[in-house]
Amino acid sequence: MFQPDLLANKRILVTGGGTGLGRSMAQRFLELGANVVICGRREAVLKQTAEELAQQTKGEIETIGCDVRVADAVEAMMDRLWQKRPLDILVNNAAGQILAQTHRLSTRAIDSVLGIVLHGSAYCTVAAGRRWIEQGLRDRVVMSILTVSSLTGAPFTVPSAMAKAGVLAMTKSLAVEWGPKGIRTCAIVPGPFPTEGAWSRLMPAERGGNEALVKTIPLRRVGQHAELANLAAYLVSDGAAFINGDAIVIDGGKMLQSAGGGASTQAMIDWTDEQWAAIRPKRQ
Ligand code: NAP
Repeated sequence: MFQPDLLANKRILVTGGGTGLGRSMAQRFLELGANVVICGRREAVLKQTAEELAQQTKGEIETIGCDVRVADAVEAMMDRLWQKRPLDILVNNAAGQILAQTHRLSTRAIDSVLGIVLHGSAYCTVAAGRRWIEQGLRDRVVMSILTVSSLTGAPFTVPSAMAKAGVLAMTKSLAVEWGPKGIRTCAIVPGPFPTEGAWSRLMPAERGGNEALVKTIPLRRVGQHAELANLAAYLVSDGAAFINGDAIVIDGGKMLQSAGGGASTQAMIDWTDEQWAAIRPKRQ
């Protein structure tokens, strides 16, 4: 699909790159020639992922333990990365999520989600951007992984929706402020992609599992990691150098189905030809 050296010489940090979609993006970047750094809190998970990806891809991968909620830790991480070579691309992917009635959330739970997603993305973006700007480094990219809830809101995952909406506002704001400095911003808005993290937190059996979920998606399936990783590789590549400030939805049309027409229209999607024939006006 891509030239094998699409991302050659690009140094990319993927926050939360030890698991799930972050890991899949890291893998694709490595396959396309990038030098990838993955960060997260669990260093053993990072190390194991790095070993596995190095075997599968022959790419150069590094790990660094960092809690992105802690501004000083983010600065220390960037200092360490810069000692070797400045980053070309930052992918804000680390996230936390809680499915709960909003009025029952503790302030700690709210702070935790906002801390990882909103503050963490801001700390990483500003820490990388400040270094790029001070050093006059151009052709740099910040790509953030959002959620559909950043566009629509979402009951029962309100802190996440709030935080992701904030990251979307950052993406759009910095596209204008940093664009003239040679730094572009973009985002991906994924629909459902099976990962241990998202599925264990957001897909309890009570919600009907995968079967109920796929009915809400026009393409009648969930996303495949390679599909998101390919989009990510394109967006951070020089081939997408004119894309700035945009958030690309990859959800099989799920968001549009939810928006279209309310419950009665939704039911019509599964009507048989016989049901449609029954309501057709009879010719006189
Ligand atoms: P995941 O596997 O749980 O990945 C989250 C990653 O973030 C983990 O590797 C975790 O590592 C890291 N992380 C969490 N807190 C951190 C912190 N304080 N500092 C540094 N790293 C931290 O979930 P995923 O499903 O792949 O999600 C990846 C991204 O896609 C997220 O931004 C999510 O919102 C977005 N997304 C996913 C879906 C989906 O269906 N999967 C849909 C829409 C959006 P540690 O725990 O070791 O720190």
